[in-house]
Amino acid sequence: MIESANPNDFAVTTPGAGLIPHGAPPLYFTFATLAKLGLPHATTTRHCPGTAVWGEPQPLVGPEAVAALASTGLDLGRLTWARQMHGADVARATARGGFAGRADVLVTTEPSAPLAIFTADCLPVTICDPEAGVLGLAHVGWRGTVRGAAQAAVDAVVGAGGRADRLAATIGPSIGPCCYEVDAPVVSEFRAAYPSMWERWARPAAPGRFMLDLWMANEALVAAAGVDPARIDNPRLCTACHPDLLYSYRKGNRGRLVTFAALP
Ligand SMILES: [Zn+2]
Repeated sequence: MIESANPNDFAVTTPGAGLIPHGAPPLYFTFATLAKLGLPHATTTRHCPGTAVWGEPQPLVGPEAVAALASTGLDLGRLTWARQMHGADVARATARGGFAGRADVLVTTEPSAPLAIFTADCLPVTICDPEAGVLGLAHVGWRGTVRGAAQAAVDAVVGAGGRADRLAATIGPSIGPCCYEVDAPVVSEFRAAYPSMWERWARPAAPGRFMLDLWMANEALVAAAGVDPARIDNPRLCTACHPDLLYSYRKGNRGRLVTFAALP
């Protein structure tokens, strides 16, 4: 990972971080690591047209999004998605795809049937063992971190036949420790859930206020669940630092980024 001298200089940050932009302005990103593993995947930017979240009147992925994402190789007609609850419940996708109910972790063993997770500051976390043919995708915010969503994704992938020593993980664009200020009640939930780890993730900022590092927390939790830290790829692209490119709930955006991933 190469740190940019100027965190707002997107052009400098991206190449070193291993995220590949597609389009100008970028409609979506792919991860060099996942591309190397042969997984069709994409994380949209705010420039990608035609996506909606569950519960909105528009189709989840409209014709404009299908056109924008055509070169990803994703079969968007077989998409699986869920109503995300900030929890750690797991839903298993079918070959046909469709709505999977209430869940924040999706897992599949079906080739070419994409999973979708919606975020705007929360972390889209991908866990995969392409050799075994198992893929998981999780939506992880602070509540999901406290409830163990990323670990649940690792467990679900291993439970479906993935081998812990072969797992690869990615963390997509999401809010960084630069921008994520929380209050004491949030931090006390971390203290209760992770008594020996939480102090590394919360830096005092002002009386009763902390800067929370969900990236470091989820990297540590995914590693503790069995993934080799060298195989956890986090380009550290902060949604709140890049409001012109990404959606940030904290910055008042109503839109959502969509992370799609499928087994080859
Ligand atoms: Zn930031």
